[in-house]
Amino acid sequence: MDLGLKGRKAIVCAASQGLGKASAMALAREGVELVIVARRREILEGAADEIASVTANRPRTVIADVTSREGREAILSACPDPDILVNNAGGPPPGDFRNFERDDWIKAIDGNMLAPIALIKATVDGMIARKFGRVVNITSHAVKAPVAMLALSNGARTGLTGFVAGLARSVAEHNVTVNNLLPGTFDTDRLKSNLAALARNSSRGVTDVTEDVRASNPSKRFGHPDEFGAICAFLCSKHAGYITGQNILIDGGAYPGTF
Ligand code: NAP
Repeated sequence: MDLGLKGRKAIVCAASQGLGKASAMALAREGVELVIVARRREILEGAADEIASVTANRPRTVIADVTSREGREAILSACPDPDILVNNAGGPPPGDFRNFERDDWIKAIDGNMLAPIALIKATVDGMIARKFGRVVNITSHAVKAPVAMLALSNGARTGLTGFVAGLARSVAEHNVTVNNLLPGTFDTDRLKSNLAALARNSSRGVTDVTEDVRASNPSKRFGHPDEFGAICAFLCSKHAGYITGQNILIDGGAYPGTF
């Protein structure tokens, strides 16, 4: 299927590894002109090299922290008029909410709510003017089925989700869509650190906990980041203009509800 993305411009945040990198890879395969972002230069350049070797389409790199104003300015000066914005950042640390202070909450809200809103604010009017825009926010299954240990994530991402629900309907007539992708358990560094935290909390070995979580998923496996990237690219495609304001769960069937 031709996704109709050749020559489109995209910013993919937090894209040096994991789900962000996989989303960038899938968009690069479609001929999208990419700017990819992360804080650690060496890993980000390595990701750009890998994407170039697979797709012959090298992304430009911006070393930046999406939670800082200067970081966002650097991203936007590299790509002031994106057709596609993939918002992503690291997840906040797991833990008992009793141990989190105001600063912990502010950091989580900055990364998982305010940074995406700021980037949307800076880019959505250009998308409206050009009559094409795709915003995809990488959030979490925890928005739909909160996990107590991920209190910071549950709270901050739900704020973004509420904002998106309102925004999406107000820009839909301009062929600008805004959706959230909710990963379940994907095989990335973030999953490994969450499993390590789970093991510490339950005084069990990481291997045991990992196997339990894997076996408890109906698919009996973790998701592969490439599967996530492909869905992100489809949501950005010309075919997905009638999908907006949605929270799309990608979790191997882990969420047990009918809807
Ligand atoms: P990951 O493998 O840990 O990768 C995180 C990426 O984000 C790295 O490229 C990192 O690079 C970059 N990053 C982190 N903070 C940043 C910042 N402030 N500014 C710019 N770049 C930043 O994580 P992942 O598994 O791909 O997860 C992506 C998102 O999905 C996270 O928010 C995570 O919590 C959420 N999620 C993941 C899963 C899962 O199963 N994997 C499940 C639910 C939710 P630098 O550190 O160099 O900046």
